[in-house]
Amino acid sequence: MPIRPDRLLADMRALAAIGQHMTGVNRPAFSDADIAAREWLRNKMMNAGLAAEIDCYGNVYGRAINADRTVVIGSHSDTVPFGGWLDGAMGVIYGLEIARCITESGSQSCGIDVISFQDEEGTYLPFLGSRAFCGDNLTAEIETAKSKDGQTLKDAMSKAALPGNAAVRLDPRRHAAYFEAHIEQGPRLESSGRKIGVVTAIVGIKSFRLLFRGQANHAGTTPMDMRHDAGGAAMCLGNLLNQRMPAIGGPQTVWNVGNMRFEPGAINVVPVLAEVFLQVRDISPAVLAEAEHLVRALAAICAESFKVDVEVECLHDTEPAAMTPALAKLIEKAAAELGAPSASMPSGAGHDAMIVVRHIPSAMLFVPSIGGRSHHVSEDTSDVDIVLGAQVLLRAIELFMANGAR
Ligand SMILES: [Zn+2]
Repeated sequence: MPIRPDRLLADMRALAAIGQHMTGVNRPAFSDADIAAREWLRNKMMNAGLAAEIDCYGNVYGRAINADRTVVIGSHSDTVPFGGWLDGAMGVIYGLEIARCITESGSQSCGIDVISFQDEEGTYLPFLGSRAFCGDNLTAEIETAKSKDGQTLKDAMSKAALPGNAAVRLDPRRHAAYFEAHIEQGPRLESSGRKIGVVTAIVGIKSFRLLFRGQANHAGTTPMDMRHDAGGAAMCLGNLLNQRMPAIGGPQTVWNVGNMRFEPGAINVVPVLAEVFLQVRDISPAVLAEAEHLVRALAAICAESFKVDVEVECLHDTEPAAMTPALAKLIEKAAAELGAPSASMPSGAGHDAMIVVRHIPSAMLFVPSIGGRSHHVSEDTSDVDIVLGAQVLLRAIELFMANGAR
């Protein structure tokens, strides 16, 4: 069954015009542009013959009318501030196009439900839409969630006139599986000449804050062996981490010392305090646990050698989420049938699929990102690759239905 490239690309460009900023899009969750985009999507879904609604969280959901067993296809239509035109939006329009194709084919075996989740990017509360869809109790978090500029989530929801709407919930009796297509947001597909990424798992993330405390003193008169240098300990930690992490992680393990701050922060004063923020990502819980041991052990070694104290705090700890292998195989098979070179790969970024997979079989497909760029107005993918990705996803879903989605 062929998708219609003209219709797919026209809809993606029309959605990108809502909140357009240069070659990208500025459509943070609950902004006027975001709500306008959600209204536009709801209309598009209705025109595609779906029963469409925007729920109280801002999720846009299009329900296949004549089906009691469906595949859910979706992603998110909110963006980071001044982001790209494809992050999230592409996966939603793939859903819309595939729903139209399946309806037009007259297939009775299984329907397509389409969803655009709200606030995947965490303007107020990351994964608000998919977590609400999956039945997480968010009452307390919604009560306190605020944007960076201090707006409350509750106000944003009221301003969008959403609280009166019913919530859309995942129903495992109806929803047989979830498929999400997304741009890779990294350089691996492009640099290896592959066209389709088959996501094996979404990485878990451990984030740490380390605080080294020493003694401020004159940087000229205090001999090196008599210092309590918090800055020296922090830099030592960064270096040792780069040396030692490769031995415990696999080829896909990534880490980042993202910020380091010294007090008093003067060129002629030995730092009394150094604050370090670092993060480790991997798809293996065992590797992440070892990484935490390593961070704590190295912090102690560096503190001792620079005669300072250290506190290590784990700020966030999200578990890796493995995608459903049987569904990943279908994407691989579909890509092979269509002559699209594919590669299995982890996702280094979080996605709504990592929430949904806790409840129903789920899979993710990546298409190449030009130059690996994302979360920026330069984010792009060639039309040919966008069309091929949609065709592969449709074929994978056809295979799923043929395998007995019911
Ligand atoms: Zn995204």
